[in-house]
Order: sequence, then C-alpha cells, then structure tokens
Amino acid sequence: MLDKVVIANRGEIALRILRACKEMGIKTVAVYSKADSDLMHVRLADESVCIGPAPSKDSYLNIPAIISAAEVTDAQAIHPGYGFLAENADFAEAVEKSGFIFVGPRAETIHLMGNKVSAIEAMKAAGVPTVPGSDGPVTEDNALSVAKRIGYPVIIKAAAGGGGRGMRVVHTESALLNSLFVTRSEAKAAFGDDTVYIEKFLQHPRHIEIQVVGDGEGAALHLGDRDCSLQRRHQKVVEEAPAPGIPDALRRATAEACVRACEQMRYRGAGTFEFLFEKGRFYFIEMNTRIQVEHPVTELVTGVDLIKEQLRIASGLGLSRRQEDIVVRGHAMECRINAEDPRTFVPSPGLIKHFHAPGGPGVRMDSHVYSGYTVPPYYDSLIGKLITYADDRAACLSRMRRAMDELLIEGIRSNIALHREIILRDDAFAQGGVDIHHLESKLKL
Ligand code: ADP
Repeated sequence: MLDKVVIANRGEIALRILRACKEMGIKTVAVYSKADSDLMHVRLADESVCIGPAPSKDSYLNIPAIISAAEVTDAQAIHPGYGFLAENADFAEAVEKSGFIFVGPRAETIHLMGNKVSAIEAMKAAGVPTVPGSDGPVTEDNALSVAKRIGYPVIIKAAAGGGGRGMRVVHTESALLNSLFVTRSEAKAAFGDDTVYIEKFLQHPRHIEIQVVGDGEGAALHLGDRDCSLQRRHQKVVEEAPAPGIPDALRRATAEACVRACEQMRYRGAGTFEFLFEKGRFYFIEMNTRIQVEHPVTELVTGVDLIKEQLRIASGLGLSRRQEDIVVRGHAMECRINAEDPRTFVPSPGLIKHFHAPGGPGVRMDSHVYSGYTVPPYYDSLIGKLITYADDRAACLSRMRRAMDELLIEGIRSNIALHREIILRDDAFAQGGVDIHHLESKLKL
C-alpha cells in the first residue's frame, strides 16, 4: 500500500481524499495556496506545503510547485482530485517522470480521452453507442454533406473542447458554414486546436453516466449509473443513483460496453462514461478520466469506497471486487451546495458565521466548511454536497427534503433555498426522469 500521498486539490474533495487516506493508514501531504491556509484538510494533514499565491494558475495549476512538494515531503504518489490538473496529460506525465505515482490513468489514456474525436473512435471500436455524426473531423469540404446525412439540428463541437465550451448548435443548412468557421476560430483561440466534428443535436436528452474502475492491466468493472440531468448552464446541481426508469437489460448492456472499452485500453483507476439518453437509447458523449464530484451516490448504492479503490489501484493491488460482487441496492441522491445567490447565481464568498450539518440515518455531508471559515473568492463556489440514501427513490427524496431543512449556513448566500423551495418540491423531479433542460425551463417561469 502507498505510504504517503500528496493531495493536489482543495475544498471538499481534498478533505474526502484525506479521510480515505487516514482510514487506510496512508500519510497525507496537503498542498495549498496562500488563500487556503485555514482549509480543514490542511489542518488535518500530516504535513502541508504552501505552493503559491491565491490564483489557481500560480498554485493548484503550478505543476513544478506540486511536484516539488512531493519531493520535499518524500511522498510516493499524487492524487489530483477533480478539476485543476486532474485531466491534464502533461501533469500525469510529469508526475511519473519525476518518479511519483499518479493516482489516475496513464498519461496516454488521458490524452486519448481528452480528444473527443479519438475518444469517440475508441468507443465505437468497443461497441459503445455514440451519437450519429461525422465520424471524425469536419472541414468546409464535407460539413454540408455530413449535416445533410444526419439531419438538422446538428451540433458542431471542438475535439479539444471541455467545460461546456467550444460547441455550437446549427438549425439550418444556411447557417452551417458560418457556424463552422466561428467554432473553429474559437476552438483555435481557446484550446490551440481548431479540429471540430459534427453530431446530431439531441433536443430533450437526459444525462446519464456510468462509473467504472480498471486495474491498468486489462481488468475492469462497472458500478452502475448515475442520472445528472438536473443542470444549470451545463453545471450539475442534483445527481442520483441509479438513474430512474431505465430498463435493466439496456442499463446492463451499456455498462458492459463501457467495461469492454476499459479492458481494451487497459484503463487504470476510476473513470466515468458520460451519455445522453433519449427515446430509450444511450449516446456516448465523453469520458472523464478522474473521480467525479457526484461519486458519493455510487458509493452509497454499491458500498464501494471509490477513493480507496483509486488508492488501492495506484498501489498496484488491483481491484477489490469482481463484477458479480457489485450489487446496486436502494437509492442515493446528492445536492450540490454552492456559495451563490439562489436567484441570481452570483458567487457569494465570505465568512460563514454559523454552519450546521444535518445528520441522522442515511445522511452524508461532504463539506470542508465550518463555523468561522471564510470562503475565498478565487475558486469554484462548491462548498459541500448533501447526500442521502434510502431503500427507494421516494424515501430518498423525502429524506433529502428533511436533511435540507436541517442544513444551516449563515453569513453568506447559498443555493439551499433553490434546493428547498424549487427542486425538492418539484412534481416532475419527484416523478423522475426529467431532461437536461428541465431546471432551466423551471427557473424561467
Ligand atoms: P464538455 O466536455 O464541454 O462538458 P460534452 O461533450 O460533455 O462537453 O457536452 C456538454 C453538454 O453539451 C452535454 O451535457 C449536453 O448538455 C450538451 N451536448 C453535447 N453534445 C450534445 C448533443 N449531441 N446533443 C445535445 N446536447 C449535447
């Protein structure tokens, strides 16, 4: 087992990783920016190293500073969490070249999946269902014929895109070439790569994703699915497992195709295959080669600790389970708690005068904040995740309503009211199976 791990992240995920390390007897090194010295995991870590000023580019994205921290503390491995450098192939490569273990896939896998055109190609080869589209890059020469074949509306996407950027929906043939030109220039400016491709634009999809783990030697398994359709501006707000209302045979067949893809690429670590789901069919859109924010809902329904699994795999101990050991039981739901105005969504950093986390049966709060903690203005506004678990979806939802009523954050604004008053009281959400536009259309009313 690994002996000492650098946690190259901040906030709730850094604390989550620290907790897993402690339970496994792994020593921890927190790396933090000058704005983050009072983070909970920095206090709890065995050692901590300041890696630079507040702006992420000078600290959490500062590759040499993070690797130096591993060197001076004599750590063995670096866990990137999510965001920041988690899907940066250059970082993974630098970590391994410097003699440390990267808790995640090989750099070449991150690179392959980071390019959407090559990712889609790899998925097709493994029999994972993809969106009808151009099957590779498009140019001015073939764009019109591709779009005609698949039918409008289509979406032009940058191969190197991410974070919801580099995409453009086109409804008519007359707008296609201009949109292609604009998307290419934007992609070039934002990602340094103007490769774009075309997909059929699905109008009312759900977002459903499949969690996998692989040992890096060709063994892999899946841990079921999650529904993350409740989104605002492509940002997930509520996630749940399992996705409601999907026929079991289809659920299983799709997950098995993901496992085959992992076996073929000898996938190492935890990963997620993201799909759009419409009219009874799954369509792959991208793979995330890291742990995800919403991993706890999978942990609660499967009983597998995904962070421990990542650390086990990084230690070379392989997978802790076989596929037949994975049983999805009950239902779990996660509400993201953000430091933001519940109506305008403007970030609301500042001093948390009072914080009280809910408790009781089936309630989990993953948060780094505490009474007296100041949320800095420099980073993501996610300050915690409230997660509930129960025997079935209805009980899980009423438990979430109950727990959300107990959650108290005073001093800053948060989206608790959005959860309490809108999402958790919504009939369509209570029914299950809403599409990715549901929350935004509800907010416009
Ligand atoms: P990113 O890497 O930027 O997150 P994705 O490929 O995951 O990009 O797409 C982000 C979001 O864009 C999806 O969750 C979905 O809402 C929308 N989207 C992407 N592709 C399509 C498509 N073919 N049809 C409809 N919506 C799409």
